[in-house]
Amino acid sequence: MPELVEVETAKRDLSKIIENKRINKVEVFLDKIVYNKKQEFIKTIENQKILKVKRRGKWLLFELDNNYLIIHFRMEGRFYLLPLDASKDKHDYVIFYFDRFSLHYNDPRLFGKMEVISKDNIFKFFEDKNLGLEYDDKNLTSKYLKDKFKTHHTAIKKLLLDQSFITGIGNIYADEILFESKINPKTFADKIGKNKLQEIIENTKIVFERSLKYKGTYPNIDGKRGTFEKYLKVHKRENEPCYECGTLIKKEKIGGRGTYYCPNCQK
Ligand SMILES: [Zn+2]
Repeated sequence: MPELVEVETAKRDLSKIIENKRINKVEVFLDKIVYNKKQEFIKTIENQKILKVKRRGKWLLFELDNNYLIIHFRMEGRFYLLPLDASKDKHDYVIFYFDRFSLHYNDPRLFGKMEVISKDNIFKFFEDKNLGLEYDDKNLTSKYLKDKFKTHHTAIKKLLLDQSFITGIGNIYADEILFESKINPKTFADKIGKNKLQEIIENTKIVFERSLKYKGTYPNIDGKRGTFEKYLKVHKRENEPCYECGTLIKKEKIGGRGTYYCPNCQK
């Protein structure tokens, strides 16, 4: 599933290519991907310039002249760039045409969403989503997490996946962050001290930055898959030896999600 890193990678790659370029034409091949009425969606976007590509949580935002186009990849959505005359894949559902290339939105699982929102409503849109802080927000401190977690007698793994505390952490990253922090994923969040919370914050940055370096685990706009999977220390490594102590990595369901951890390093 595309997570924060994949969305941030798309943001960084796309911003170099599509910022300050005009969308000449849009084609929508499947209505359900687009939240607005199809004709209204097309009319609002065509002939608009993309001023800036942004990200908030796992949403990708194109700031247009008068509106925002927001995109959520959900299970398997992604963008890729092609020449103007390239043929369409059967899972390409929206195509944006620029002067010299086209941007295809591909989504085999059909869960992704696009919506045009006026600039006046964008603040409310994200306020309603109740998103927590970004991983690199300076307000993300051990005090913030201590206050948030003190009323939650719940496994820390579940709270890291809850987007209302820190936004953008998905299943792969929660496992890796807890391994780096030497915290058992079942530890009750309200019992974790400030020092350990600080380690969670620092390791969230470290794990995200490391993954960004390898462009995540998904195909990116050039069609090449990010290679971060090779560097995962616990996630998807069930019964393989821990790189730090040799103990076999364990898999367990926590909050309905497959969770990987080292039973020795993460007591
Ligand atoms: Zn270990």
